[in-house]
Amino acid sequence: MNDLEFDKEHIWHPYTSTIDPLPVYQVKRAKGVYIELEDGRKLIDGMSSWWCAIHGYSNEVLNNAMSSQIESMSHIMFGGFTHKPAISLAKRLINITPSKLQKVFYSDSGSVAVEVAMKMALQYWHSIDNNDKTEFLTIRNGYHGDTWHAMSVCDPDTGMHGIFNGKLSIQNFVDKVESRFGEKCSDKDYNNIRKVFEEKSNKIAAVILEPIVQGAGGMWFYSADYLRKVRELCDEFNVLLIADEIATGFGRTGELFACNHANIQPDIMCLGKAITGGYMSFAVTMATDDVANTISSGNPSCFMHGPTFMGNPLACSVACASIDLLMMSNWKVRNKEIEMIMEKNLSILRSNPKVADVRCLGAIGVVEMKNPVDMGKIQAMFVKEEVWVRPFGTNVYIMPQYIISDDELNKLCTALVNVVEKY
Ligand SMILES: *Cc1c(COP(=O)(O)O)cnc(C)c1O
Repeated sequence: MNDLEFDKEHIWHPYTSTIDPLPVYQVKRAKGVYIELEDGRKLIDGMSSWWCAIHGYSNEVLNNAMSSQIESMSHIMFGGFTHKPAISLAKRLINITPSKLQKVFYSDSGSVAVEVAMKMALQYWHSIDNNDKTEFLTIRNGYHGDTWHAMSVCDPDTGMHGIFNGKLSIQNFVDKVESRFGEKCSDKDYNNIRKVFEEKSNKIAAVILEPIVQGAGGMWFYSADYLRKVRELCDEFNVLLIADEIATGFGRTGELFACNHANIQPDIMCLGKAITGGYMSFAVTMATDDVANTISSGNPSCFMHGPTFMGNPLACSVACASIDLLMMSNWKVRNKEIEMIMEKNLSILRSNPKVADVRCLGAIGVVEMKNPVDMGKIQAMFVKEEVWVRPFGTNVYIMPQYIISDDELNKLCTALVNVVEKY
């Protein structure tokens, strides 16, 4: 049995069968924007390993941050201990995120950060003896992770977890926001969500949403004005706002955090994915002083969560290095240029009869097809074009690394256009 046969027989890959799995490509190494396969082929990365690898693979600065941290310690329990990497990272995060977010809770993956956020919201209301507020409100087309309560706020149809619908807590969903990014919020969109607040706000602990860009649930960019109005409704009706910035954080949408497009402050914010530059699984849930201190004034007087790998020093140190790299770079200018290059290349597909929509924002480019694509088939076409793009459903999209050159980005976009036209 060769390695690929062994893999096929024994190893589970995401969202594919164990009986008849989609093919996988064996990676030997990755450097900068290039992914090198075992057979020697080199692919230009169009996915940043699912939003993460913003500075490219095997980045020297990040490599050094990790190896020097290994020399002092890789891990130490966070109960009863603290350390420089955790403190340095919290300082950076507090500095760059919306100003009201002053408390930092570390965990090990995005989904866990969402669970933590939802738990914080519930415990917040419990602490002030409001036991009616036990439900969540979210927007259709969303995606918040694969763990149990994170699943319950994913879109019940596009959110990959539809089969669990009858088994999950029932949450409140408002229709997809039709007002596009750059537009004002339509009355229809506003009234849809206002109605839920009017009818159910006494039961709703928090609104949880992906600000501006809905990722894995539909790759949709919606109106900043809508987001601003949701914040106002949360204030008016006494509901917390959780911003899930796990995909959008660290510059991806053209602002450092997508909330900045609307100039709003969430009560709780989740970060993950690009936080370590794609080096380690790690996430953060940040909260306002009000949320944290209200929880701590309740009974029990502490937040009931404490993962084993909380505040992992390796992850914290590489996250510090990644944030420093980002903040020292001209990421904002570069992401605008990336957006413009993608728009220039991909706009030709708007008139293609197979294409429903083309949209670009920051370092995200989406070609929405009218019909879902066959992943195995289209993936092979991309590899043949020497690029790495992994579509899902009707969305063929790229989210390049910020360090990609114009030349490489043009190649990536040309491959995307070719594949869509030939498909
Ligand atoms: C990926 C993602 C998650 C889940 O993060 P994991 O690290 O995969 O658990 C949650 N919310 C959003 C918006 C995401 O994009």
